[in-house]
Amino acid sequence: MKAADDIDNSLAEAGLDTLAIRAGQRRSAEGEHSEALFLTSSYVFANAAEAAARFSGDQPGNVYSRYTNPTVRTFEERIAALEGAEQAVATSSGMAAILSTCMAFLKSGDHLVCSRDVFGTTTVLLNKYLSKMGVETTFVPVTDLALWKQSIRPETKLLFLETPSNPLCEVADITALAELARAEDVLFVVDNCLCTPALQKPLALGADLVIHSATKYLDGQGRCLGGVVCGRSELVDEVLSFIRSAGPTMSPFNAWVFLKGLETLRLRMDAHSVNAQLLAEWLQRQPAVEQVFYAGLPDHPGHQLAARQQRGFGGVLSFRVRGGREQAWKVIDSTRILSLTANLGDAKTTIVHPATTTHGRLNDQQKKASGITENLIRVAVGLEDIEDIKNDLLHGLTAI
Ligand SMILES: *Cc1c(COP(=O)(O)O)cnc(C)c1O
Repeated sequence: MKAADDIDNSLAEAGLDTLAIRAGQRRSAEGEHSEALFLTSSYVFANAAEAAARFSGDQPGNVYSRYTNPTVRTFEERIAALEGAEQAVATSSGMAAILSTCMAFLKSGDHLVCSRDVFGTTTVLLNKYLSKMGVETTFVPVTDLALWKQSIRPETKLLFLETPSNPLCEVADITALAELARAEDVLFVVDNCLCTPALQKPLALGADLVIHSATKYLDGQGRCLGGVVCGRSELVDEVLSFIRSAGPTMSPFNAWVFLKGLETLRLRMDAHSVNAQLLAEWLQRQPAVEQVFYAGLPDHPGHQLAARQQRGFGGVLSFRVRGGREQAWKVIDSTRILSLTANLGDAKTTIVHPATTTHGRLNDQQKKASGITENLIRVAVGLEDIEDIKNDLLHGLTAI
């Protein structure tokens, strides 16, 4: 039987699909083909001397699953391989990954610059909780490079962004921001949740750390919560240290589900991108639609940049209907197949009215700045037959 080390060594030059299916796999003496699920909180030692050596760190090996778990480790090694990272550490959710990164690198008096249109809970975490610890955040539009630069102060420690943004698909120039971060000696962190490493590799473009909500496309079927932080070992070790102390560890069961999800990651992301492109082009032709936001459309302001730094345009798009809230709600309420939910990254297509749900806590001025109008609808395009998705939207689009 091939040992885990042999498998990994022969993957040094492997492509994305091979890594997504095989990286990090370790086999027990049972010779299982599918990854084993190690559902155990702790581990036994052969004798007292071994226990002492494991606890002191003199001997590598498992002690307790808040520190290490073989199934979680396989997930971490696999996602690190996919992102081109030296190391990765898994967390209980995407928010736990973001919090753990902030706790590892920020202290009272520090400042960070964050893209304005990040995931709503990220804004809450920074504004309500990090601020309470004396860490201040400045929010800037993701595309405004000059403003990113202007916003950096002597106490700035970290730049954080999501690209493409949700829901308007604005695209950040990762390479330019990485140069800025290097010149200013600040950490540059990218939330790569919407693209996944199948479509975008921020570390190769100069980012220091990549964060994921594994809950979304890494799972791909809406089953489990999880997160991960990837990057150079010296940085990931700092995050790992916080996670071991504070406890937002990934459950081995969830890691096992994500491993199964990763096997089809590239296939799914390409299929999401194909469906989203077809839907975006079709929506542009609908008389009831005023404007479509999808970086795969040649007239989208981020199209060229996205075409350069992404392998595909992803599954999330949004559009404005002619009219206001009433018309947008009518389109949403007329669907029979699409799921009305704020989640994304699922095989099932989801539809949501951002102004009254995901972005409902923004005031009118903030909504205006972020383009969250009452007639805006976001669709996270799933893997159903595209004709069925179109027909489902047509019920409402022909009725308004
Ligand atoms: C969902 C999401 C998060 C938070 O992840 P959870 O797993 O829900 O905690 C962070 N960033 C982005 C872009 C997301 O979509």
